[in-house]
Amino acid sequence: MRTRQENPTPCEIAKPAWPQGKRFAFTIVDGTDRSTVQNVGPGPVYDFLSELGLRTTKTIWPLAPLGPPRTGGQSLDPDYRRWVLELKDQGFEVALHGASDENSTRERVLRGLNYFREVIGQDPRLHANHTGQVESIYWGRRSSTACRRSSTSGPGGSPRARINSTGVAGSPYLWGDLCRDRITYVRNLVFPEINTLKVDPLMPYHDRWRPYVRYWFSSSEGHGPFLLPAHLSSSFAGIWRTG
Ligand SMILES: [Zn+2]
Repeated sequence: MRTRQENPTPCEIAKPAWPQGKRFAFTIVDGTDRSTVQNVGPGPVYDFLSELGLRTTKTIWPLAPLGPPRTGGQSLDPDYRRWVLELKDQGFEVALHGASDENSTRERVLRGLNYFREVIGQDPRLHANHTGQVESIYWGRRSSTACRRSSTSGPGGSPRARINSTGVAGSPYLWGDLCRDRITYVRNLVFPEINTLKVDPLMPYHDRWRPYVRYWFSSSEGHGPFLLPAHLSSSFAGIWRTG
């Protein structure tokens, strides 16, 4: 059996082939933090994306939190669920942001995955860890992989959570096998650079040292109104040159 030191190339790379010979793709993963039907629901943002022909990704929490929420925002309440299903019917992707807006044990994660499947009609293809959740997959220091370090040439991201129980034997929060069996892609780090492939040219990749994630991918940071426009103004020309 080879040790980590003897096996310096843990990455298995799944290079995407863009359809029709396209040179790059653009999409958005819309985190569900603080989202409600009132502030994000049916209205100008998704109407605009739809008019442009963009079918982006919207994450959800299937279950309402049992205790105080971490950030707030709706889970699959009836009105939010109705809107999410409208987006799905239009062709938008619905993805997972953890089972709920709080820490979730394996039992709750399983319940959330099953409810996701019941409502959406299939398992999520994509999962993004939510801030500070104990059950986050390989989060905190565990998210900085040898694959990621070897693939990224730009500014490094900083892990945003210090707690993680992915690898702690006996933890009630272990759900890695469910992630491996039911989810295809997990977001790893985010970067202040709109050309994501420039800083992580290997993505999506499988890291054999972190076997519960089938494929990792990176993102460009765009969670606030001040960040994405800055990327666009400084880097959008670059994406045309290099994309
Ligand atoms: Zn979040």
